[in-house]
Amino acid sequence: MREEKFKRKPRRSYVKKKVCLFCTEKVKDIDYKDINKLGRYLTEKGRMIPKRITGNCAKHQRRLALAVKRSRIIALLPFVKED
Ligand SMILES: [Zn+2]
Repeated sequence: MREEKFKRKPRRSYVKKKVCLFCTEKVKDIDYKDINKLGRYLTEKGRMIPKRITGNCAKHQRRLALAVKRSRIIALLPFVKED
């Protein structure tokens, strides 16, 4: 089995453990008023960071997107600046 040699752990330097933070914290509803938390999932431009990077599960990513949307409506967070 020569292939076994190459089947070591994949090396992806920037990828940490991918765990959904909201799942680990057992968060059901993401508070849209909690901009500190929401801000962690946004880029400098106010874009949502994709879940493949944050490690969020689909469920929570959707909740997060909703929370961000709401937050923008009440002007806690800026809208995405397109350039
Ligand atoms: Zn989750």
